[in-house]
Amino acid sequence: MSVPEPFFIRPISKKGATDCCILLDRPAYNRRSQHTLSNIRSLHRSPLAQLIDGKSIAQEIRNEIRAEVADWVHTGHRPPQLTVVLVGDDPASASYVRGKQRAAEEVGIESTTLTPDPSISEHELVDLVEKLNRDPDVDGILVQLPLPPHINPTRIIATIDPDKDVDGFHPENAGRLMTGQKGFIPATPFGIMELLRRSNVSIESKECVVVGRSNIVGKPTALLLGGPTGNGTVTLCHRKTVNLASHTRRADILVVAVGKVNLITADMVKEGATVIDVGINRVPDPTRKRGYRLVGDVDFKNVEPKVARITPVPGGVGPMTIAMLLRNTLTAATRHAFA
Ligand code: NAD
Repeated sequence: MSVPEPFFIRPISKKGATDCCILLDRPAYNRRSQHTLSNIRSLHRSPLAQLIDGKSIAQEIRNEIRAEVADWVHTGHRPPQLTVVLVGDDPASASYVRGKQRAAEEVGIESTTLTPDPSISEHELVDLVEKLNRDPDVDGILVQLPLPPHINPTRIIATIDPDKDVDGFHPENAGRLMTGQKGFIPATPFGIMELLRRSNVSIESKECVVVGRSNIVGKPTALLLGGPTGNGTVTLCHRKTVNLASHTRRADILVVAVGKVNLITADMVKEGATVIDVGINRVPDPTRKRGYRLVGDVDFKNVEPKVARITPVPGGVGPMTIAMLLRNTLTAATRHAFA
């Protein structure tokens, strides 16, 4: 006997897994609807995690921002304005920037992309950013990374007015986050916190382990989880961590931002944990038109049955990053109007 399309039977909770089922019609689950009854019985012994659906949470946030922007404009303000600077012809960067521009326009944020000649000098790029800093019609400035090798990204980021730094990468915003002051939080860590909040994952007093210590993801995420908003107890792991598994196995909340396929395997996670997979890795896949598919840092197939909640890749953290960039741009516009 097979389960009729488009339904898939999934336990409500781990506790009630053996006797309690609900019917779902979410497309993400329809692919699994071919299971036979015996397969489903085995799934009851090994229940699937709840997927933290970043795509739909991000859409919810974008809808909220769209409504807030409409209110903002309705009360006589100009629309928020985001200027993106894209230097060079890296196809991945160009595609990210197109995505950001499209998303901004969808919520009513005006977006301009400046594409200076790739031979622009560091000094000229500093001048361009300073000009945008002085422009009262620009609320948010984002310089797409990576920059060509002849330009020092640290210098360029430090040139952006911290009050227009919607990426939250400026040292002043990093310092504000560190000291608990109002500033811009980098979009990916901000998105991770929203994913947890909107999935009703309590952080307070929980063991949180962050793997990866980049300035844009790992470090700010650790600060947010362990700061007064999260109140978790945080361990920050990195490439020099000895016996990574001994740390990740303790985690109630595990955030992985490294960039290594299958770094986190099933034996490295605690039963019932919440796993946030930030990694984006391309693996060759001849069945796809583009020749590859995207996977995270977590061995999803084997980790999913063991944990309570997990983000997929793609469709987890990724969509949240753009949504929180839009949130930061709207915040910048309102702060400028009342400055
Ligand atoms: P990064 O690439 O700058 O640094 C990687 C980090 O991983 C370093 O801190 C390093 O110490 C640590 N590391 C390396 N090997 C390790 C190991 N074996 N064990 C433990 N730690 C190890 O980091 P990043 O810029 O935060 O990027 C990490 C991943 O997240 C990449 O795959 C990137 O594409 C992805 N990313 C995704 C989003 C998103 O929106 N989903 C945003 C930013 C980054």
